Amino acid sequence: MNVEHGKVEHASVCPLDCPDTCSLTVTVDEGRIVGIRGSRANPYTDGVICAKVPKAYPEFVHGERRLRTPLKRVGAKGESRFERISWDEALDTIYARTSAVIAEHGPEAVMPLNYGGPHGLLAAGSMDLRFFHRMGASLLDRKPLCGGIRTEAWIGTYGTVTGIKPEQIEASKLIVAWGNNVTWSNLHITPLINKARRAGGKLVVVDPRRTKIAEQADLHLALRPGTDVVLAWAVAADLERRGALDRAFIQRWVSGFEEFMALARPWTIERAAETCGLAVADVARFAEWYATISPASITVGNGLERNRNGGSGIRAVFALPALAGKFGPVGGGLINGASFAFPKTPQKLARPDLVPPGTRMLNIVDVGTHLTSGTLKPPLKALFIYNHNAVVVHPDQNRMRRGLSREDLFTVGIEVAMTDTMLYCDVVLPACTHFEHHDIFAAYGQHWLQRAEPVIPPQGEALSNMEIFRRLAARFGYTEPCFTATDHELIDDAIDPGDVRLGGVRPSQLPTNKALAMTVEGKDAVLFTNVFPKTESGKVELVSPYLDKKYGARLPSYRTLSSTYPLTLISPASDQRITSTFGGTTSNAGIPPLEMHPDDARARNLQNGQSVRVWNELGEVRLPLRITDDVPRGVVSSLKGAWFTTTNNLQTVSALAPATHADICEGACYNDARVDVALAT
Ligand code: SF4
Repeated sequence: MNVEHGKVEHASVCPLDCPDTCSLTVTVDEGRIVGIRGSRANPYTDGVICAKVPKAYPEFVHGERRLRTPLKRVGAKGESRFERISWDEALDTIYARTSAVIAEHGPEAVMPLNYGGPHGLLAAGSMDLRFFHRMGASLLDRKPLCGGIRTEAWIGTYGTVTGIKPEQIEASKLIVAWGNNVTWSNLHITPLINKARRAGGKLVVVDPRRTKIAEQADLHLALRPGTDVVLAWAVAADLERRGALDRAFIQRWVSGFEEFMALARPWTIERAAETCGLAVADVARFAEWYATISPASITVGNGLERNRNGGSGIRAVFALPALAGKFGPVGGGLINGASFAFPKTPQKLARPDLVPPGTRMLNIVDVGTHLTSGTLKPPLKALFIYNHNAVVVHPDQNRMRRGLSREDLFTVGIEVAMTDTMLYCDVVLPACTHFEHHDIFAAYGQHWLQRAEPVIPPQGEALSNMEIFRRLAARFGYTEPCFTATDHELIDDAIDPGDVRLGGVRPSQLPTNKALAMTVEGKDAVLFTNVFPKTESGKVELVSPYLDKKYGARLPSYRTLSSTYPLTLISPASDQRITSTFGGTTSNAGIPPLEMHPDDARARNLQNGQSVRVWNELGEVRLPLRITDDVPRGVVSSLKGAWFTTTNNLQTVSALAPATHADICEGACYNDARVDVALAT
């Protein structure tokens, strides 16, 4: 803690759903956050943070939309009419209404609907999950909404092991950023890429959009969404044709080589270029560089998973370094699997042992359908929505909104700010931000463990997620000791206190001004040097028994998508929000434009800046048009996560995304949205 002119500086950590998990210095003046900047406590993030956090966080914590007291709905769902109530009345109402649902339909008629708002291990899922597990509520499979496809593809190919640290990119001579807009969504990789390039390294970006990093790349492959698997197969086949396969490595470490290559071989450079919408020379150059330049690293984002072939695309990309023998030297291999570097103990933290045997699990992508179809037995009759702006984020948004509008659905909302989703809740409980409670932070994009303490008191009557569920557990009569665990005890349940890297310090006592390196016996993890695949065979599984058993997906596949709508709509991340977080702040008041290639605009007689309607069978969105060749022909793009305040018909781009399932993980297929565009009238 640092004190200057009455202002106090505290150490903290960014909790947002971002791979970087920056360490922060937070300036507090008389109980208010007045400044946030990067700190050097985490050597990876090293004092640098994105612009949105200092800009939007103080308003998010202290602004008009902040929830400070419990509320009950007094208007129609979605109408935004609430009255203040006491905590006692809120807990009594929740207990009475939920108990009535359980009495009539059983506990599976109740479900948490939560996702990745805060990423502290406690706020993300600790006492809340204990509570729902003990109740016997329906389990929610959250991972299909985002990131799950990539994780399952990784586990299915390499197992629960970590890839290389992002810091190693610095030593790469070839870097491939595949579906990863690093400037906006993986910020700290950018200076590492720049260093590598200054030392003569090359950068290839694979992304349908010409992002800032794509503009700077030595080669930008603006492929058609959903064709990543074809491009990766073509590179694999070209490696073989060139004699650039690492036969010795494959012999020792790869299983399923022949079956994988049988799928890859028909994809010549020319055929792949045509399918992916790329120039033959560009695909050939990429394949040549990947065959001839080492060390070569690949960083994969979530962009390529958001379609029907998402798992296949990522699996085929993950196969490339194994086929080309890229593992071993510093700067070679795959940057992925960082979350497996941490000694997390979810069994102790979330207590899945409390779940009654046979309790059903529902896929988060299907919740809108379950709420509206009338076929689910027992039906969903009570939802607890937290850490999640469901009505903005879910695909098939109109269906989700219809589901949340059901008068017979009792909905509890737990949130920091009044979001579009909270407007559909019967009781709204005010939650603390992570600046107001203790938490511990692993990461999914880097290898540093961090702890944070509160830097300001809870605002108004807000409580942490942990305290809210402690009180709910008490009100529901759950008397097991796990429901009275303190936040420090929860931190010690979240991370293995016996892990040697903690040096005997309990996780709850780790210093807050210094991140702890998640090394392997004191050294950085390097796949095939000091860490090895944790698959069934102990090899890189290009044919995956794991994915076969779970999803019937032994091998990657390529599925085409036919539609009567001519344009593919993609909805990438914004640099002003983390999906929908911060959507209600002043910096997010504008309507995100629809980007369209000049040829597609000309064919529709559209002019830059006009208001257009974008529609398909699921909905219609009105957006200002931005004509640009940053997107290829046939593809339109608009940033995800904007709130309803930016619309005049309560529909954002999520309204146009189908709630279909990808090839693995039953994952969401946002980029399978097919649309047409015309002048708005
Ligand atoms: S959103 Fe990401 S880049 Fe920005 S401060 Fe948080 S962790 Fe860092």
